[in-house]
Amino acid sequence: MISVKTALAIISEFPDTYLFEEVSLNEALNLVLSEDVFSPINMPPFRQSAMDGYAFKYSDKDKYSIVGESKAGDSNNYVLKEGEAVRIFTGALVPDNADTVIMQEHVERVGDKIHIQKMPSQCANIRKTGEQIKTMDIALKRDTKLNEAAIGFLACLGITTVTVYKIPKVGILVTGSELQKPGSELEQGKIYESNSIMLEAALQKIGIKDIEIIRVKDDYDATKTSIEKVLNTKDLLLVSGGISVGDYDFVKEALLENEVEELFYKINQKPGKPLWFGRKKNTYVFALPGNPASALTCFYIYALPLLRKMSGYKNNQLKRVIANSKTTIKNPSGKTLFLKAKLEGDSVEVLQGQSSAMLYTYALSNALICVDSETAEVKINDEVECIKLEL
Ligand code: AMP
Ligand code: MG
Repeated sequence: MISVKTALAIISEFPDTYLFEEVSLNEALNLVLSEDVFSPINMPPFRQSAMDGYAFKYSDKDKYSIVGESKAGDSNNYVLKEGEAVRIFTGALVPDNADTVIMQEHVERVGDKIHIQKMPSQCANIRKTGEQIKTMDIALKRDTKLNEAAIGFLACLGITTVTVYKIPKVGILVTGSELQKPGSELEQGKIYESNSIMLEAALQKIGIKDIEIIRVKDDYDATKTSIEKVLNTKDLLLVSGGISVGDYDFVKEALLENEVEELFYKINQKPGKPLWFGRKKNTYVFALPGNPASALTCFYIYALPLLRKMSGYKNNQLKRVIANSKTTIKNPSGKTLFLKAKLEGDSVEVLQGQSSAMLYTYALSNALICVDSETAEVKINDEVECIKLEL
């Protein structure tokens, strides 16, 4: 049995190689760039007017004749003579030999003539070519998480695809002969199978879309075959149940038979002691205990950081904060405890229903209190470490 710290340290060594893929920009929200993106163009690509007004070559004259019009999208490049101006609109091409745009509110116009009322400074109201970014400058660096502004920025440079860290594909293998899919009346001796939909939701929350769920009875051959299938098609496998030491727990044996290398088994923690972690080539495997609260806690603490790291994120663990405990906590077991809890401001309360089989208070928790294996007792108002469950 290893400590929580050792287990986290082992997982933090992975992945040792990353997978990348090219995606179209409209599918890239929240994905992370795996390479620098260079601008293929100057932005703006030409000198643009920043105002509706008149473009002219700056001089000390205050009267100009209008010789043409440049509206957004026009390509006409007027050659202006001394004393001439063009009517111009926001976003339009500024003639090469004009250097200033005056806003229309600052001129008096009579027919084809303008009389400047308030002279702007030279070069005013013109967006310079490449003032935002120049051709072949870095638009966004590798490891940037693409938000909506980043997507807009890349699109304005004409970019339509990006290379990103590939979001892992995940298989969920649910084991247990007692499990019945919700949707029909419960048979004697059975319980509704809830881990798959819970883990699927937890995966969706961190942006994982490619999820396959397979259900097997406590049957060695079916378990072994299903594991093999997931290893061949997915980047990570979550097994639910069957990893304890009962006569009908076949998962560990089936994983080893599939040549999945064991990286650890059993952690000095409650809940979730029988967690198993391994890998085969670039596919990682967490065999989670079947008790629903154990499965979810092991997912949050161990599987989530690895999945986020594979997806290219830098801060992978759930956030940890210190709060004052509203509850006395006894820990005679010498294990690290993860307790369902409600965090409000600087204080945190341990909720009822800490059994690893129970989810009713997990549904209301926004944090897990982490009590270190060496801490035998937490008194009211003592500081405790809390793991926030929202991202
Ligand atoms: P196991 O880890 O397979 O020994 O399962 C531990 C406990 O969790 C047993 O009471 C199981 O019935 C229950 N359990 C296992 N898998 C699931 C599941 N997918 N949904 C709900 N409960 C489960
Ligand atoms: Mg079982």
